[in-house]
Amino acid sequence: MKKRIAIYGSTGSIGTQALEVIENNPELFSLEVLTAHSNATLLIEQAIRFQPNIVIISDETKYAEVNQALASKDIKVFAGEKSLIDIAGSDTYDVLLAAIVGYAGLSSTLAAIEQGKTVALANKETLVVAGDIVTRLVTEKNARIIPVDSEHSAIFQCLVGEQNNPVEKIILTASGGPFLGKKPNFLINVKKDHALQHPNWTMGAKITIDSASLMNKGLEMIEAKWLFGLQNEQIEVLIHSQSIIHSMVQFEDGSVKAQMGLPDMKLPIQYALAYPQRIKNNFKRLDFKNYPNFTFEQPDYKTFKNLALAKDAMFKGGNAPCVLNAANEIVVDAFLKNKIGFLEMSDIIEQCLEKIAFVEKPSLQDYIACNTETRLLASTLIK
Ligand code: NDP
Ligand code: MG
Repeated sequence: MKKRIAIYGSTGSIGTQALEVIENNPELFSLEVLTAHSNATLLIEQAIRFQPNIVIISDETKYAEVNQALASKDIKVFAGEKSLIDIAGSDTYDVLLAAIVGYAGLSSTLAAIEQGKTVALANKETLVVAGDIVTRLVTEKNARIIPVDSEHSAIFQCLVGEQNNPVEKIILTASGGPFLGKKPNFLINVKKDHALQHPNWTMGAKITIDSASLMNKGLEMIEAKWLFGLQNEQIEVLIHSQSIIHSMVQFEDGSVKAQMGLPDMKLPIQYALAYPQRIKNNFKRLDFKNYPNFTFEQPDYKTFKNLALAKDAMFKGGNAPCVLNAANEIVVDAFLKNKIGFLEMSDIIEQCLEKIAFVEKPSLQDYIACNTETRLLASTLIK
């Protein structure tokens, strides 16, 4: 039986790499659903090439264009966020790859979990915003999340076969991004073109900026907390600029397991889609002789304030991570539009964390309201 795959966010960096994985394994996967936000041209091209049953364009103004281009094909075309939710909650697929970027991925991921589906989760913001609700629902509905994020895939792989062995701590590795070792006097003048040059990974714009500011690692701490049911104190971040060790788990006997490989997202994507199977592939192999020196260092929490803010938000809990995420989405967008400087991003996020009222045990409605309120506040602070 082939696994029926729905790719939410098929036009993005993760989405397009997932399509490569599926194309290379036609005996294992069938592609059922493709979705994009507004990139109609690429969505149409993908639909013609992969012949899914359903495509969804969430930007409704692009519906006519997509519908017309696919009129002669046996492909259903839908538009709007509601369609994303409806199809995520339907029976047309087995595994949903959640590769929409940002808060926008939350509602469809929740709809899939509500149906007890398996979600291959790239969209870390879902767990940052509402990790408590999402993980509770996973248990209640007997759903499953398989992480796609490389660090979390690494930890997941280290934990296979260790169900009854308590974890002492996890060590999330970070490349450090393009500004590793830099200080505020340098960062103050940084522009988006430089921030978009990641040394080891090619990714979408938002996560690339998050990697440069270390917010990505902060979001990943919160993502790990919920994915693996950890206490805040059990999560450590370590700079490993080679990006070969994707993360590590230390068990109660002091033994440390690491998962390694070249930095290539196709590997964790393939692992999540095929789990529990490993699929043979022709990806480039790691040759240790090319990496004679693995280095490790403490992150600079003072310079990369986003990491400290995210860690604080994780410890504070409640709606703090939701505020952090919403403010971050707004400031990253503003930085990409050259409206604010690199260091201003942290200042605005910090102000939002101070000003938005703390809610200790938010409901889903509270999270939704908190997200809207924080976005408004952050937008006002930018002007
Ligand atoms: P991209 O920006 O490359 O792609 C985002 C995808 O989401 C596109 O298909 C885009 O459609 C769609 N999208 C954007 N906004 C909306 C919206 N409002 N509603 C519905 N769909 C939307 O992002 P990435 O692929 O880099 O990242 C996706 C997720 O995976 C993020 O959460 C990221 O943190 C995570 N991740 C990514 C990694 C990577 O290597 N890229 C590594 C680990 C995690 P359109 O093209 O039409 O705009
Ligand atoms: Mg990652």
